Amino acid sequence: MAEPFYIVGPCAAETRAQVLETARLLAKEAGIHVFRAPAWKPRTQPGHFEGVGEDALAWLQEVRLTYGMKVATEVATAEHVRLAAHYHIDYLWIGARTTANPFLVQQLSDALREASQVEGYIPHVLIKNPISPDVALWQGAIERMAAVVGMESVMAVHRGFSSTSTPYRNAPMWPVAFELRQRLPGVPLLLDASHMAGSCDGVEVLSRQAMSLGYDGLMLESHCAPEEALSDAQQQLTPSAVGQLLRSLCTRASSCDMGLQALRSEMDELDDTLWSLILQRMQVSRRIGQYKQAHHLPVLQQSRYEAVLQKRLEWARQNGLDEQAVLQLMTTLHAESCRWQL
Ligand code: PEP
Ligand code: MN
Repeated sequence: MAEPFYIVGPCAAETRAQVLETARLLAKEAGIHVFRAPAWKPRTQPGHFEGVGEDALAWLQEVRLTYGMKVATEVATAEHVRLAAHYHIDYLWIGARTTANPFLVQQLSDALREASQVEGYIPHVLIKNPISPDVALWQGAIERMAAVVGMESVMAVHRGFSSTSTPYRNAPMWPVAFELRQRLPGVPLLLDASHMAGSCDGVEVLSRQAMSLGYDGLMLESHCAPEEALSDAQQQLTPSAVGQLLRSLCTRASSCDMGLQALRSEMDELDDTLWSLILQRMQVSRRIGQYKQAHHLPVLQQSRYEAVLQKRLEWARQNGLDEQAVLQLMTTLHAESCRWQL
Protein backbone atom coordinates (compact mmCIF):
# COMPACT_ATOMS: atom_id res chain seq x y z
CA MET A 1 0.00 0.00 0.00
CA ALA A 2 1.57 3.27 -1.06
CA GLU A 3 -0.55 5.71 0.95
CA PRO A 4 -1.31 4.87 4.58
CA PHE A 5 -4.83 3.54 5.03
CA TYR A 6 -6.87 5.18 7.77
CA ILE A 7 -10.22 3.95 9.02
CA VAL A 8 -11.68 6.29 11.61
CA GLY A 9 -14.96 6.83 13.43
CA PRO A 10 -16.71 6.42 16.74
CA CYS A 11 -16.54 3.47 19.08
CA ALA A 12 -20.26 3.06 18.42
CA ALA A 13 -22.98 4.61 16.29
CA GLU A 14 -25.17 6.27 18.93
CA THR A 15 -27.51 8.66 17.12
CA ARG A 16 -28.02 9.75 13.52
CA ALA A 17 -26.78 13.24 14.43
CA GLN A 18 -23.60 11.92 16.10
CA VAL A 19 -22.79 9.66 13.15
CA LEU A 20 -23.34 12.32 10.49
CA GLU A 21 -21.57 15.07 12.41
CA THR A 22 -18.53 12.91 13.24
CA ALA A 23 -18.29 11.79 9.60
CA ARG A 24 -18.63 15.37 8.31
CA LEU A 25 -15.86 16.62 10.59
CA LEU A 26 -13.57 13.67 9.86
CA ALA A 27 -13.91 14.28 6.12
CA LYS A 28 -13.37 18.01 6.48
CA GLU A 29 -10.73 18.23 9.20
CA ALA A 30 -8.80 15.00 8.76
CA GLY A 31 -9.39 14.04 5.11
CA ILE A 32 -10.74 10.63 6.14
CA HIS A 33 -12.15 8.44 3.35
CA VAL A 34 -13.19 5.35 5.31
CA PHE A 35 -15.59 5.87 8.20
CA ARG A 36 -16.19 3.25 10.91
CA ALA A 37 -19.24 3.08 13.16
CA PRO A 38 -20.33 -0.15 14.83
CA ALA A 39 -24.05 -0.93 14.85
CA TRP A 40 -23.51 -3.72 17.39
CA LYS A 41 -21.07 -3.54 20.29
CA PRO A 42 -19.66 -6.67 21.91
CA ARG A 43 -19.49 -5.64 25.59
CA THR A 44 -17.53 -7.62 28.11
CA GLN A 45 -20.27 -7.25 30.73
CA PRO A 46 -24.05 -6.91 30.36
CA GLY A 47 -25.80 -3.65 31.13
CA HIS A 48 -23.57 -1.45 28.96
CA PHE A 49 -24.53 0.25 25.70
CA GLU A 50 -24.71 -2.48 23.05
CA GLY A 51 -25.33 -0.40 19.94
CA VAL A 52 -28.50 0.64 18.13
CA GLY A 53 -28.50 -2.18 15.58
CA GLU A 54 -29.85 -1.90 12.04
CA ASP A 55 -30.66 1.85 12.27
CA ALA A 56 -26.93 2.52 12.28
CA LEU A 57 -26.55 0.83 8.88
CA ALA A 58 -29.04 3.28 7.39
CA TRP A 59 -27.03 6.17 8.89
CA LEU A 60 -23.86 4.72 7.35
CA GLN A 61 -25.59 4.63 3.98
CA GLU A 62 -26.40 8.30 4.46
CA VAL A 63 -22.74 9.03 5.26
CA ARG A 64 -21.73 7.33 2.02
CA LEU A 65 -24.24 9.32 -0.03
CA THR A 66 -23.67 12.66 1.70
CA TYR A 67 -19.88 12.71 2.10
CA GLY A 68 -18.75 10.15 -0.47
CA MET A 69 -16.93 8.15 2.22
CA LYS A 70 -16.60 4.39 2.30
CA VAL A 71 -18.25 2.96 5.40
CA ALA A 72 -17.40 0.16 7.82
CA THR A 73 -19.03 -1.75 10.64
CA GLU A 74 -18.29 -4.75 12.86
CA VAL A 75 -20.05 -8.06 12.23
CA ALA A 76 -20.25 -10.86 14.77
CA THR A 77 -23.18 -13.01 13.58
CA ALA A 78 -24.47 -14.34 10.25
CA GLU A 79 -27.47 -12.00 10.59
CA HIS A 80 -25.12 -9.00 10.88
CA VAL A 81 -23.49 -10.07 7.62
CA ARG A 82 -26.87 -10.38 5.85
CA LEU A 83 -27.87 -6.89 7.03
CA ALA A 84 -24.49 -5.41 6.08
CA ALA A 85 -24.93 -6.88 2.59
CA HIS A 86 -28.41 -5.39 2.38
CA TYR A 87 -27.02 -1.91 3.19
CA HIS A 88 -23.94 -2.39 0.97
CA ILE A 89 -21.47 -1.68 3.77
CA ASP A 90 -18.05 -1.37 2.08
CA TYR A 91 -15.83 -2.69 4.87
CA LEU A 92 -16.65 -5.25 7.55
CA TRP A 93 -14.45 -6.09 10.47
CA ILE A 94 -14.29 -9.00 12.82
CA GLY A 95 -13.67 -8.09 16.44
CA ALA A 96 -11.07 -9.59 18.75
CA ARG A 97 -13.56 -11.67 20.71
CA THR A 98 -15.02 -13.12 17.50
CA THR A 99 -11.64 -13.91 15.92
CA ALA A 100 -10.94 -16.03 19.00
CA ASN A 101 -13.77 -18.41 17.99
CA PRO A 102 -13.23 -20.40 14.75
CA PHE A 103 -16.85 -21.65 14.73
CA LEU A 104 -18.13 -18.08 14.64
CA VAL A 105 -15.60 -17.00 12.04
CA GLN A 106 -16.65 -19.90 9.83
CA GLN A 107 -20.33 -18.90 10.21
CA LEU A 108 -19.43 -15.35 9.12
CA SER A 109 -17.48 -16.70 6.18
CA ASP A 110 -20.43 -18.93 5.15
CA ALA A 111 -22.88 -16.02 5.44
CA LEU A 112 -20.59 -13.88 3.34
CA ARG A 113 -20.30 -16.59 0.69
CA GLU A 114 -24.08 -16.71 0.46
CA ALA A 115 -24.34 -12.91 0.19
CA SER A 116 -21.66 -12.87 -2.49
CA GLN A 117 -23.43 -15.57 -4.52
CA VAL A 118 -26.94 -14.16 -4.13
CA GLU A 119 -26.26 -10.41 -4.22
CA GLY A 120 -22.73 -10.16 -5.58
CA TYR A 121 -21.69 -8.55 -2.29
CA ILE A 122 -17.88 -8.62 -1.87
CA PRO A 123 -16.80 -6.22 0.88
CA HIS A 124 -13.30 -5.70 2.25
CA VAL A 125 -12.86 -7.60 5.50
CA LEU A 126 -10.61 -6.52 8.37
CA ILE A 127 -9.70 -9.11 10.95
CA LYS A 128 -8.63 -8.02 14.42
CA ASN A 129 -6.16 -10.13 16.34
CA PRO A 130 -7.78 -12.51 18.86
CA ILE A 131 -7.62 -11.46 22.53
CA SER A 132 -4.88 -14.00 23.26
CA PRO A 133 -1.50 -13.80 21.48
CA ASP A 134 -2.16 -16.74 19.18
CA VAL A 135 -0.86 -15.95 15.73
CA ALA A 136 -2.25 -19.18 14.20
CA LEU A 137 -5.77 -18.29 15.33
CA TRP A 138 -5.44 -14.84 13.78
CA GLN A 139 -4.03 -16.27 10.55
CA GLY A 140 -6.79 -18.91 10.47
CA ALA A 141 -9.53 -16.27 10.72
CA ILE A 142 -7.93 -14.26 7.91
CA GLU A 143 -7.75 -17.36 5.73
CA ARG A 144 -11.39 -18.29 6.42
CA MET A 145 -12.51 -14.82 5.26
CA ALA A 146 -10.05 -14.66 2.35
CA ALA A 147 -11.50 -17.96 1.08
CA VAL A 148 -14.61 -15.93 0.18
CA VAL A 149 -13.46 -12.39 -0.62
CA GLY A 150 -9.91 -13.16 -1.81
CA MET A 151 -6.57 -12.33 -0.16
CA GLU A 152 -6.57 -8.96 -1.92
CA SER A 153 -9.67 -7.89 0.03
CA VAL A 154 -8.56 -8.73 3.58
CA MET A 155 -6.51 -6.72 6.07
CA ALA A 156 -5.18 -7.59 9.51
CA VAL A 157 -5.79 -5.26 12.45
CA HIS A 158 -3.43 -5.42 15.42
CA ARG A 159 -5.32 -4.20 18.52
CA GLY A 160 -3.20 -5.81 21.21
CA PHE A 161 -3.71 -8.66 23.64
CA SER A 162 -5.31 -9.01 27.07
CA SER A 163 -2.59 -8.82 29.71
CA THR A 164 -2.14 -7.46 33.22
CA SER A 165 1.44 -6.33 32.66
CA THR A 166 1.09 -3.46 30.23
CA PRO A 167 0.69 0.26 30.67
CA TYR A 168 -1.84 0.14 27.85
CA ARG A 169 -5.36 -1.24 27.77
CA ASN A 170 -4.08 -4.14 25.64
CA ALA A 171 -0.46 -5.25 25.39
CA PRO A 172 1.10 -4.65 21.96
CA MET A 173 3.26 -7.80 21.94
CA TRP A 174 4.75 -6.55 18.67
CA PRO A 175 6.48 -9.83 17.78
CA VAL A 176 3.08 -11.52 17.31
CA ALA A 177 2.16 -9.00 14.61
CA PHE A 178 5.62 -9.27 13.03
CA GLU A 179 5.14 -13.03 12.86
CA LEU A 180 1.76 -12.59 11.15
CA ARG A 181 3.33 -10.23 8.64
CA GLN A 182 5.94 -12.85 7.86
CA ARG A 183 3.33 -15.55 7.42
CA LEU A 184 1.02 -13.41 5.26
CA PRO A 185 3.30 -10.85 3.61
CA GLY A 186 0.68 -9.64 1.11
CA VAL A 187 -1.94 -8.80 3.74
CA PRO A 188 -1.92 -5.14 4.82
CA LEU A 189 -1.41 -4.66 8.55
CA LEU A 190 -3.16 -1.84 10.44
CA LEU A 191 -2.77 -0.79 14.06
CA ASP A 192 -5.90 -0.14 16.10
CA ALA A 193 -4.13 2.36 18.31
CA SER A 194 -7.33 3.26 20.18
CA HIS A 195 -8.18 -0.15 21.60
CA MET A 196 -4.53 -0.92 22.20
CA ALA A 197 -3.87 2.32 24.08
CA GLY A 198 -7.13 2.91 25.92
CA SER A 199 -6.29 6.63 26.28
CA CYS A 200 -5.88 9.55 23.90
CA ASP A 201 -2.22 10.11 24.87
CA GLY A 202 -1.40 6.48 24.22
CA VAL A 203 -3.09 6.64 20.81
CA GLU A 204 -0.55 9.20 19.65
CA VAL A 205 2.48 7.30 20.89
CA LEU A 206 1.35 3.99 19.39
CA SER A 207 0.32 5.53 16.07
CA ARG A 208 3.81 6.95 15.69
CA GLN A 209 5.41 3.63 16.55
CA ALA A 210 3.20 1.80 14.06
CA MET A 211 4.07 4.10 11.20
CA SER A 212 7.78 3.83 12.07
CA LEU A 213 7.41 0.07 12.00
CA GLY A 214 6.03 0.16 8.47
CA TYR A 215 2.39 -0.61 9.29
CA ASP A 216 0.07 0.06 6.36
CA GLY A 217 -2.27 2.29 8.34
CA LEU A 218 -4.36 2.86 11.41
CA MET A 219 -7.79 2.25 12.83
CA LEU A 220 -8.73 5.08 15.20
CA GLU A 221 -11.74 5.99 17.29
CA SER A 222 -13.09 9.50 16.99
CA HIS A 223 -16.26 11.15 18.27
CA CYS A 224 -17.64 14.63 17.62
CA ALA A 225 -18.05 15.06 21.42
CA PRO A 226 -15.85 12.43 23.10
CA GLU A 227 -16.85 13.42 26.64
CA GLU A 228 -20.44 12.43 25.82
CA ALA A 229 -19.59 9.08 24.22
CA LEU A 230 -21.58 6.09 25.46
CA SER A 231 -18.53 3.78 25.27
CA ASP A 232 -14.74 4.20 25.31
CA ALA A 233 -15.01 7.96 25.97
CA GLN A 234 -11.42 8.16 27.27
CA GLN A 235 -9.81 6.91 24.05
CA GLN A 236 -11.80 8.76 21.38
CA LEU A 237 -10.10 11.72 19.72
CA THR A 238 -11.96 14.68 18.33
CA PRO A 239 -11.94 14.81 14.51
CA SER A 240 -9.63 17.83 14.63
CA ALA A 241 -7.18 15.94 16.89
CA VAL A 242 -7.24 13.10 14.35
CA GLY A 243 -6.38 15.60 11.61
CA GLN A 244 -3.47 16.98 13.66
CA LEU A 245 -2.16 13.53 14.48
CA LEU A 246 -2.28 12.27 10.91
CA ARG A 247 -0.61 15.38 9.55
CA SER A 248 2.19 15.01 12.07
CA LEU A 249 2.86 11.36 11.32
CA CYS A 250 5.63 10.75 8.89
CA THR A 251 5.76 7.44 7.11
CA ARG A 252 9.37 6.60 7.68
CA ALA A 253 9.28 3.08 6.30
CA SER A 254 11.75 3.91 3.56
CA SER A 255 13.98 6.31 5.48
CA CYS A 256 14.58 4.37 8.67
CA ASP A 257 15.92 0.97 9.49
CA MET A 258 12.83 -1.15 10.06
CA GLY A 259 14.78 -4.00 11.62
CA LEU A 260 16.18 -1.66 14.26
CA GLN A 261 12.78 -0.08 14.87
CA ALA A 262 11.25 -3.51 15.38
CA LEU A 263 13.90 -4.48 17.94
CA ARG A 264 13.53 -1.16 19.76
CA SER A 265 9.78 -1.60 20.00
CA GLU A 266 10.31 -5.09 21.38
CA MET A 267 12.70 -3.67 23.96
CA ASP A 268 10.30 -0.85 24.89
CA GLU A 269 7.58 -3.38 25.48
CA LEU A 270 9.88 -5.50 27.65
CA ASP A 271 10.78 -2.39 29.65
CA ASP A 272 7.09 -1.62 30.17
CA THR A 273 6.56 -5.17 31.44
CA LEU A 274 9.69 -5.08 33.60
CA TRP A 275 8.74 -1.85 35.34
CA SER A 276 5.19 -2.88 35.86
CA LEU A 277 6.48 -6.10 37.50
CA ILE A 278 8.82 -4.05 39.70
CA LEU A 279 5.86 -1.97 40.79
CA GLN A 280 3.86 -5.14 41.53
CA ARG A 281 6.83 -6.39 43.58
CA MET A 282 6.79 -3.18 45.64
CA GLN A 283 3.07 -3.53 46.21
CA VAL A 284 3.64 -7.02 47.62
CA SER A 285 6.42 -5.51 49.79
CA ARG A 286 3.92 -3.06 51.20
CA ARG A 287 1.60 -5.94 52.15
CA ILE A 288 4.53 -7.78 53.76
CA GLY A 289 5.33 -4.60 55.69
CA GLN A 290 1.76 -4.40 56.97
CA TYR A 291 1.91 -8.05 58.05
CA LYS A 292 5.23 -7.55 59.85
CA GLN A 293 3.89 -4.50 61.63
CA ALA A 294 0.77 -6.35 62.77
CA HIS A 295 2.91 -9.23 64.06
CA HIS A 296 5.69 -7.07 65.58
CA LEU A 297 8.36 -8.40 63.21
CA PRO A 298 11.38 -6.31 62.08
CA VAL A 299 11.38 -4.96 58.52
CA LEU A 300 14.94 -6.05 57.76
CA GLN A 301 15.52 -9.79 58.13
CA GLN A 302 19.11 -10.35 57.03
CA SER A 303 18.91 -14.14 56.65
CA ARG A 304 15.92 -13.93 54.30
CA TYR A 305 17.71 -11.29 52.19
CA GLU A 306 20.89 -13.40 52.06
CA ALA A 307 18.89 -16.41 50.82
CA VAL A 308 17.13 -14.35 48.11
CA LEU A 309 20.42 -12.81 47.03
CA GLN A 310 22.38 -16.09 46.87
CA LYS A 311 19.63 -17.70 44.81
CA ARG A 312 19.73 -14.82 42.32
CA LEU A 313 23.54 -14.78 42.10
CA GLU A 314 23.58 -18.50 41.39
CA TRP A 315 20.96 -17.94 38.69
CA ALA A 316 23.06 -15.06 37.27
CA ARG A 317 26.11 -17.36 37.02
CA GLN A 318 24.09 -20.00 35.21
CA ASN A 319 22.69 -17.49 32.72
CA GLY A 320 25.88 -15.61 31.94
CA LEU A 321 24.92 -12.37 33.70
CA ASP A 322 27.61 -10.36 35.43
CA GLU A 323 27.42 -11.07 39.20
CA GLN A 324 28.52 -7.57 40.19
CA ALA A 325 25.79 -6.02 38.04
CA VAL A 326 23.17 -8.36 39.49
CA LEU A 327 24.39 -7.62 43.02
CA GLN A 328 24.03 -3.89 42.42
CA LEU A 329 20.53 -4.28 41.00
CA MET A 330 19.48 -6.54 43.90
CA THR A 331 20.86 -4.09 46.47
CA THR A 332 18.90 -1.23 44.92
CA LEU A 333 15.75 -3.33 44.63
CA HIS A 334 16.04 -4.48 48.24
CA ALA A 335 16.57 -0.96 49.55
CA GLU A 336 13.49 0.29 47.71
CA SER A 337 11.55 -2.76 48.91
CA CYS A 338 12.43 -1.96 52.55
CA ARG A 339 11.24 1.60 51.99
CA TRP A 340 7.84 0.26 50.86
CA GLN A 341 7.64 -1.80 54.06
CA LEU A 342 8.11 1.16 56.38
C1 PEP B 1 -14.08 -1.99 18.03
O1 PEP B 1 -13.21 -1.79 17.18
O2 PEP B 1 -15.11 -1.31 18.11
C2 PEP B 1 -13.89 -3.09 19.01
C3 PEP B 1 -14.85 -3.46 19.84
O3 PEP B 1 -12.66 -3.60 19.02
P1 PEP B 1 -12.04 -4.97 19.56
O4 PEP B 1 -12.77 -6.09 18.89
O5 PEP B 1 -10.63 -4.84 19.12
O6 PEP B 1 -12.20 -4.97 21.05
MN1 MN C 1 -14.28 1.09 21.33
